[in-house]
Amino acid sequence: MTDAVHRDGNASIQGLPTLPRLPFISPLPMTGPLLVALPCLLAALLGFKTYAPYGADAALGIAFGAAAVVAMAQTLILAARPPLVEPLFGGLDRMYRVHKWLGISAAVLMILHQQIEPDFERTVRETGLGELGEEAGDLAFNALLALIAVSWFRRLPFIGLEIPYQIWRFSHRFMGVLFAIVIVHQFFVDMPTGVDPFLSILLNTFGIAGVAAWIFTELVAPQLRRREFTVSEISQTGDTTTLRLSPKGRAMRWRPGQFAFVRAPEAGLSEPHPFTIASAPRPDGALTFSIRALGGWTRSLPATLRTGTRVQVEGPYGRFDFRKGGARQIWLAGGIGITPFLAWAESMTEAERRDIHLVHCVRTQEEAIGIETLRAAAARNPRFSFEVVVTTRDGRLTAERLIGAAPFAVRQADLWFCGPTGLKDGILKGLKARGQTPRRVRFEQFEFV
Ligand SMILES: Cc1cc2nc3c(=O)[nH]c(=O)nc-3n(C[C@H](O)[C@H](O)[C@H](O)COP(=O)(O)OP(=O)(O)OC[C@H]3O[C@@H](n4cnc5c(N)ncnc54)[C@H](O)[C@@H]3O)c2cc1C
Repeated sequence: MTDAVHRDGNASIQGLPTLPRLPFISPLPMTGPLLVALPCLLAALLGFKTYAPYGADAALGIAFGAAAVVAMAQTLILAARPPLVEPLFGGLDRMYRVHKWLGISAAVLMILHQQIEPDFERTVRETGLGELGEEAGDLAFNALLALIAVSWFRRLPFIGLEIPYQIWRFSHRFMGVLFAIVIVHQFFVDMPTGVDPFLSILLNTFGIAGVAAWIFTELVAPQLRRREFTVSEISQTGDTTTLRLSPKGRAMRWRPGQFAFVRAPEAGLSEPHPFTIASAPRPDGALTFSIRALGGWTRSLPATLRTGTRVQVEGPYGRFDFRKGGARQIWLAGGIGITPFLAWAESMTEAERRDIHLVHCVRTQEEAIGIETLRAAAARNPRFSFEVVVTTRDGRLTAERLIGAAPFAVRQADLWFCGPTGLKDGILKGLKARGQTPRRVRFEQFEFV
């Protein structure tokens, strides 16, 4: 079944020194979602309380509108990838998930606001600016709903139709402009004045913060966060291109398992794409990326990049870190999902006290990259073992095979996974059926969903 199994036969579970249990996931994984939900709730409550004297309809309409503004502002703030906030969500991918659901919630709240449409015509004199505010609201409402629908249905279920990422990304850029129009609506639309300053302060603060975050994302961050590298080595294995990048100026600090956004405008690849750094931090600051050709950008790499090409890297991001795990770990990689494990394996010293077994599932032998790195890690540390399952030769990995191959009971281990969701789900289902559900499962997705 296996291509290479590197294992110390003496590494039995009995006699294993138990490591102190470290917190596995971010200590407060719900902190981020709670922190974004609270201001939305506060805005809704303030809106309702402030406009309650004008009737239930007006109060509800304002409550929904106020919550929508705050939710939208926060989607823009999260899109700016604030590094200090990322840990509160347990990583950038999870932060993006909250960003997505905040956007969807904002759409629902906007629809409710629009349906109820608070009407103060009888209490407030209409002004020209108020008219403008109303028109701005209608324009922003329709355009935002269209953009949010495009984002939500980027990949249509069942029929497999997918809007190309570039088009989706381009349309997403306009969110900030439309949000600014929403702020114009909120600011100028005819409303009773002097009712309660707190709601206005809250909405204006989030309004300014949202627009500022969008300007930062589009104009400032690209200049501020990118570091210059040059391609010092480039190699090809099957459809995977491996790049070694050397820093031109300030080196980047990162932890194994983190990823970064890469672009090479000089070679016509100006769109930043996320890739896991497939190497451990090195004294010379060099980074390795192994990139599988999946679409237009990744396929064009071998033809466009050369030794010496300048590349810009933004990061690091992510919190995929096996050192937050327990004393026994299964690392399961599907295809190019091996990259974080290569960085971990390279960073592993002989002092590593965890028992780790890595299974790398690939379709063909050619896909199995980084074998030398894994062999070196296994030679350095007998507690680390690995095997490569080549589907065309060994058949698919099954839960049964995994249980048989692991040098410890899977149910006593943590499972770290990176690869196609189908592989993870299938293996977990099989493990559960055999009473071998891992103690904890942690995975990295190569997609922001
Ligand atoms: C955190 C993370 C780490 C990753 N690490 C690796 C890695 O180590 N090696 C590797 O080969 N791949 C990795 N990927 C996947 C890689 O980013 C995509 O395969 C690549 O961006 C596809 O681009 P494309 O234009 O060639 O393909 P397309 O066919 O255009 O895109 C395929 C899919 O990739 C995603 N994608 C495309 N462009 C972007 C972009 N600019 N930003 C974000 N997502 C995009 C979209 O979901 C899209 O549906 C990682 C992805 C993420 C999110």
